[in-house]
Amino acid sequence: MTRQLIILGSTGSIGVQALEIVAENPDCFTVLAITSAGSQPDLVIEQARKFKVKVVGVTKNADQIRAGLPGVQVIDGPKASTEIAAISCDVVLNAITGSIGLGPTLAALDADNRVALANKESLVAGGDIVTSRAKSDQLLPVDSEHSALWQALIGEKNSQVSKLVLTASGGPFRDRSDLESVTVAEALNHPTWVMGPVVTINSATLMNKGLEIIEAHYLFDIPYSKIEAVIHPQSVIHSMVEFDDGSTIAQASPPNMKGPISFALGYPDRVKGAMPPVDWTQSHSWSFAPIDFARFPAISLARHCGEIGKGLPAVFNAANEVAVQAFVDGNISFPQIVKTVSAVVEKMSASALTAPRDLADVSAIEEDARQVASSEVARARA
Ligand code: MG
Repeated sequence: MTRQLIILGSTGSIGVQALEIVAENPDCFTVLAITSAGSQPDLVIEQARKFKVKVVGVTKNADQIRAGLPGVQVIDGPKASTEIAAISCDVVLNAITGSIGLGPTLAALDADNRVALANKESLVAGGDIVTSRAKSDQLLPVDSEHSALWQALIGEKNSQVSKLVLTASGGPFRDRSDLESVTVAEALNHPTWVMGPVVTINSATLMNKGLEIIEAHYLFDIPYSKIEAVIHPQSVIHSMVEFDDGSTIAQASPPNMKGPISFALGYPDRVKGAMPPVDWTQSHSWSFAPIDFARFPAISLARHCGEIGKGLPAVFNAANEVAVQAFVDGNISFPQIVKTVSAVVEKMSASALTAPRDLADVSAIEEDARQVASSEVARARA
């Protein structure tokens, strides 16, 4: 196989691992363009040189990056990723963090590019818009749970699915009773996965699993009543599909994002040796336990927002982005993250009942949600 790639978010955790996959498989992949915020200009220059990319997109430090990359087209400004996502290629990997990834996702779909989606927020915030524009096999999940569900569903009928079961490591506070005293450093220390800071905090609150339930609904067109989550601390079973004959298909591999990233980049081919498999010469124990919804209210809140739909998932996500930042900045406590989101969802339940039609509608809803979230944070501090 040969796939020409565009990588959005090349300096983040997923982007860096995607470039490692390219470096390990030069016969399979080439990189046409990379984008990032540009806050690590030396890394951007190094990546662009190493992979001989033609186009670089950044929002910051454009002059420094331009000077370091003679002959490379450097596009700067807030729309750089959206512009570059529309350049014709085989696969656009969207590894941007946050709902600012929505514009680039839509631009890539509209340009007929296949999208490997690591940016779950664009699907949560703009799910109806994204799925209505995506053709069959054009939107491919990179999230490990959704990659597992996708792999389990290949060749199956949606009508015979009785349940999607997402696994959750449970994060660092799975067994901790006092969540009030959680520090930022503790929340940033995930037991099984090394990820970016926002996803790591979202894993600690289980907000990440809530977002993933909404993501699964949009990706696979399965009703919320058939999507569940279960605690699986080892993070080896990445998710499961239960069928109406009572059979469950699970996907297993040691925690390593190179598996799901390479599956989406290479689909329908698998990338040989993308990650080490399960070692069956060793003993393993894989355990499962139900989620304590009272201690982790994020799941029920996500389900509520998903079921109501319209603009509410966008509100849920935008409020969470504000609340996570407030926690990282030391302005609210750990339990106040979900409490803040819940308060915003309640306040905006009536106004977010118009379905967003386009990116501008989503942005307007998010802007409102951020403002309400900011005043909730201010109130929590007072
Ligand atoms: Mg995940």
